[in-house]
Amino acid sequence: MSVWDALVGQGPVVDTLQRAISGQAHAMTHAWLFTGPAGSGRSVAASAFAAGLQCAQGGCGVCQACLTARAGTHPDVTVVRTEQLSIGVDEVRDLVRRAAMSPTLGRWQTLIIEDADRMTERGADALLKAIEEPADRTVWMLCAPTADDVVVTVRSRSRHVGLVTPSQAAVVQLLTGEGVAPDQAEFAARVSQGHIGRARALATKPEAAQRRRDILALPAQLTGLGPCLKAAAWAVTTAQAEAQAATAPLDAAEQDKLAAVLATSSGKAARGMAGQMKDLEEQQALRLKRFVRDRLDSVLGELTSYYRDVLVVQMSAQAGLVNQDCGPSIREVAQTTTAEATIGRIDAIVECRRAMMSNVAPQLAFEALMVSLA
Ligand SMILES: [Zn+2]
Repeated sequence: MSVWDALVGQGPVVDTLQRAISGQAHAMTHAWLFTGPAGSGRSVAASAFAAGLQCAQGGCGVCQACLTARAGTHPDVTVVRTEQLSIGVDEVRDLVRRAAMSPTLGRWQTLIIEDADRMTERGADALLKAIEEPADRTVWMLCAPTADDVVVTVRSRSRHVGLVTPSQAAVVQLLTGEGVAPDQAEFAARVSQGHIGRARALATKPEAAQRRRDILALPAQLTGLGPCLKAAAWAVTTAQAEAQAATAPLDAAEQDKLAAVLATSSGKAARGMAGQMKDLEEQQALRLKRFVRDRLDSVLGELTSYYRDVLVVQMSAQAGLVNQDCGPSIREVAQTTTAEATIGRIDAIVECRRAMMSNVAPQLAFEALMVSLA
């Protein structure tokens, strides 16, 4: 079980990283940019690379260095995994200070920024200086959906590693290797379209599979204004409930930690802590908002795949349906509407996603969407 086994269907990426680790001429550099579609494994690749650099065997997967690097407890592997909407200049400066330190265990000082696309402009500036004059044993690993999501000055000084959407066969192999029954793995790999985390959730969590069915049942329910508003309200309240369930334990742990610090300080320091508690609550509110948006984005993903299937039937294309289990409903919609209308509906989903990105209230964006889909 080497660290590379986790990189499903990414042969060329594994080759590149292994060459860098083995120290081949010009194969190593101080800044790397990992890009790829959601679920392709950008942060998994960065983490494997970090482990490979710390491991005496280049990523055996079983030694202390590999295990701690991947668990996030290795002293020379720093992982920035933000739940917040942005990574600010103060956070980047902390990293830059750490990057300047010699590695504790003598190999590499590695820093992984999982959402480099969320760096503020000032944050990116602070990072740029560190990348331009890197410490000898320091390696930066930035992850982002595409190279365009990272400011050009940082991008141009980083070596680009592009992950691809893994094939369905590769995802099936991964899931069956993890003990999922073959037909279940086949189904999950197909409907998740190469998103590994999503495939794993669908294959192993009944509530994830149920939620997908609920979303795909929406189009058939949109028979008038009332049902459209009801569908929008359902999508938003479900996303909020899911986001709250996911963030509440994190919120509580963070507040307890800060309260413990507050309890041991007194006077002036304690007054400063009250401000910190307020800052924390603001950050937590932003995180909740982001979780809600992520959940709603996955609803849009499901609806897109549904109408893509409708279009496949309407165009009599040879491609198979992604959502085979919804075949009857998809064929009925296909027969009672036109391909032009379907394209209009897919456009409406794109428009909804754009509205959400520009901070339109989710409820409004989804109401407009459901009316367009009806
Ligand atoms: Zn190892």
